[in-house]
Amino acid sequence: MSGRKIVLAMTIAIICLGLTWLVSCKKKEQPAPPPKAPTMEEMHKHAEKMKKTATATAEEAKKTVETMAASVEQTVCPVTGQKIDKNVFVEYKGKKVYFCCADCKAKFEAEPEKYIAKLAIPILRGRIDSAKWAEGKSMMGSIATGIRAWCAEKGVNYNTAPGGLTGLGFAAGDLSGTYFVDADFTFTLTLPVTVPPVFSVTCTPTVRTNRPTNPASYTLNGLADGTTTWTP
Ligand SMILES: [Zn+2]
Repeated sequence: MSGRKIVLAMTIAIICLGLTWLVSCKKKEQPAPPPKAPTMEEMHKHAEKMKKTATATAEEAKKTVETMAASVEQTVCPVTGQKIDKNVFVEYKGKKVYFCCADCKAKFEAEPEKYIAKLAIPILRGRIDSAKWAEGKSMMGSIATGIRAWCAEKGVNYNTAPGGLTGLGFAAGDLSGTYFVDADFTFTLTLPVTVPPVFSVTCTPTVRTNRPTNPASYTLNGLADGTTTWTP
């Protein structure tokens, strides 16, 4: 190999090494991108899925508890609350309903809907309510996710309120389920935006006739350390 060829080969080798070094330096300057916060669209798709699951679960739990309630032996008159007389009863929707006297039987037959609810045992009714709340709590979780996605999009120190559920991107009906409607849900967000955001989501069902009443309201608190708590 001639002297010129050796110089040429060495020059090429040096250029190659230099290029490799440059490329590797560039790589070091660009760290892996941080995990992305969910986009508003992803958040809504997730919320929709969660709502469907929660509604189905609430319905199933309610049916189970109602079946349990129906199988519990009746001991008091649904009209007066006094001890029943096993000889005074009517067949109502395939089940015997007992009364303390004939007067109560007549009252029941005139307005069965007014008294039928009193047949369910209070404890079981509480369980029905907690099954119904499963739906509401899932929606509150969706609103919390919505708040986090909104804050991630706006960034730290953003100082203008989102302006209600619509501002978070929820459309009318998004949060209406079997036991709740959009209007039952409100939220507050501490501004300017912090990471994690500090917020509270409150649900007080007032519209649906079959809404849960125990407790009458729930609040989901998003704390500064990123954890959440529930207060009835
Ligand atoms: Zn009676």
